This record gives sequence, C-alpha cells and structure tokens, in this order.
Amino acid sequence: MLLPHQPLQEAAVPSQRISARDQAGPWHSEAVCRRDEAGLFFAPSKEPTAARLSREEAAKRVCARCPVMVACREHALLQPEPYGVWGGLTAAERRVVLARRRRREAELQRTTRIAAAG
Ligand code: SF4
Repeated sequence: MLLPHQPLQEAAVPSQRISARDQAGPWHSEAVCRRDEAGLFFAPSKEPTAARLSREEAAKRVCARCPVMVACREHALLQPEPYGVWGGLTAAERRVVLARRRRREAELQRTTRIAAAG
C-alpha cells in the first residue's frame, strides 16, 4: 500500500517516516497525495531556493483540496515530522506552530499556578 508522501527521493526522506500506528490510521486512505508522482512534498538534494518555494506552493495547493488536511497536519506536528510539506505546512512553518503551542502551554501553566496560589 502506498502512503501519503511515499518517498520518491530516498536520500531526502527517512524510510521510517510513518509509524506502524499511523499507517493504520484512517486518514491515510483519503490522502490526496497517496502517490506523490510529481515529487512535490519533499525536497530533492541541493534544491535551489526559488525551486523549493515554487514546489512547496504547489504542494500546499494539493493539501488545500485534501479532505484529511487537519489530521495530516496534527500527525506531522505530533511526531514531529522533520521534513516535507504535511497538512499544508512546510517543516519551517510546523516549527513555528510548535513553538507557539509550547509558549501557549507554558503561559497556561504559569497562569494556573498563579491562580492556585492566589
Ligand atoms: S494534507 Fe497534504 S500532505 Fe497531508 S495527506 Fe493531504 S495532500 Fe498529503
């Protein structure tokens, strides 16, 4: 069975990207990118910046019409997936989302401690 983002460029994509648990997840079966024949979702080695930006935008357009975008995005954030476009986000964009979540969680914990002490 092919999975979303099944690697076409082995050098750019770790072979164990998706855990056995996630392979069994229902969202994979509805993924629009089950066959990434255009190689949109992962960078080939030494990809020029302009080509990367163009490829990522094309991948995001595919994600935008994917019925499992939210599940895919959460998977990529929770793993976390270090490479490629997942759920309409690049790896750099996912790092920003994760940093925001960590800051929000820290603030919530701080607020909770203050409320409990007060
Ligand atoms: S959201 Fe994008 S990366 Fe995720 S399964 Fe759909 S097409 Fe693939």
